[in-house]
Amino acid sequence: MTYQVLLYYQYTTIKEPEQFAKEHLAFCQSLHLKGRILVATEGINGTLSGTVEETNKYMETMLADERFKDTFFKVDTAEEHAFKKMFVRARNELVALNLEDDINPLELTGNYLDPEDFREALIDENTIVLDARNDYEYDLGHFRGAIRPDIRNFRELPQWIRDNKEQFMDKRVVTYCTGGIRCEKFSGWLLREGFENVAQLHGGIANYGRDPKTQGEFWDGKMYVFDERISVEINKVDKQVIGKDWFDGTPCERYINCANPYCNRQILASEENEEKHLGGCSPECSQHPANRYVQRHHLSESEVAKRLAQ
Ligand SMILES: [Zn+2]
Repeated sequence: MTYQVLLYYQYTTIKEPEQFAKEHLAFCQSLHLKGRILVATEGINGTLSGTVEETNKYMETMLADERFKDTFFKVDTAEEHAFKKMFVRARNELVALNLEDDINPLELTGNYLDPEDFREALIDENTIVLDARNDYEYDLGHFRGAIRPDIRNFRELPQWIRDNKEQFMDKRVVTYCTGGIRCEKFSGWLLREGFENVAQLHGGIANYGRDPKTQGEFWDGKMYVFDERISVEINKVDKQVIGKDWFDGTPCERYINCANPYCNRQILASEENEEKHLGGCSPECSQHPANRYVQRHHLSESEVAKRLAQ
């Protein structure tokens, strides 16, 4: 174990994001880091991998900068890089919530719960725990009893809340996401919408899983991550597999992208079912002329026809 994967964000003011991005990329490259960093005038959001020494050097340098001195780095150990390349990109915003009026989490955000308090919230009857991630992330793993908003993309979340408000208007609402950044804005937005008692899991699921006291208790399945690892373990106490194979519903934690590049839907599938359905999430995708599974395995037309007939 000589590598580390970092996950972090900091809402702060970055005056010239374009210029900052350029210089920051050069800095990351000088440390041989790989990963993805977004920069906006409202702050920075990144995930990186590199050797222990070089990722430590990165964190040290960041924490010595007045703008990033309070950054909370979530650190995982790894055996290799979790990314292929290094990107630093300037954007208009760090997370897209599609709000008419943007939220500045430095001014308005929900209370922070540490892992232990969050664990309490999970078993409290008067608390609603809301998963602030996308449906495919929830389906691979989530906190026991958490509500799954029926959305494909984070930016659809505000509308979903408005449509389902009666369910939790009179309760305490606690939100969580992977590393915490989505909840910063989302919990602030809930307050602005009129929810009075709003809290968020500080440091996200990533931190909860590493907490020596909670050890990921009450988390079921695995956590989806946006790097080559695809998913990581969280619960070290009483883990249960909850992912289900897209095709036959059996327990499954193996993610694939639909082989139709125009669909690309992320589904859980066993190797056997992937083979059977040529990697397609639907009959249309299995038969699509651009099917990547067919290309990758150099299947002839007759072989494709034979498999689809089964
Ligand atoms: Zn598909």
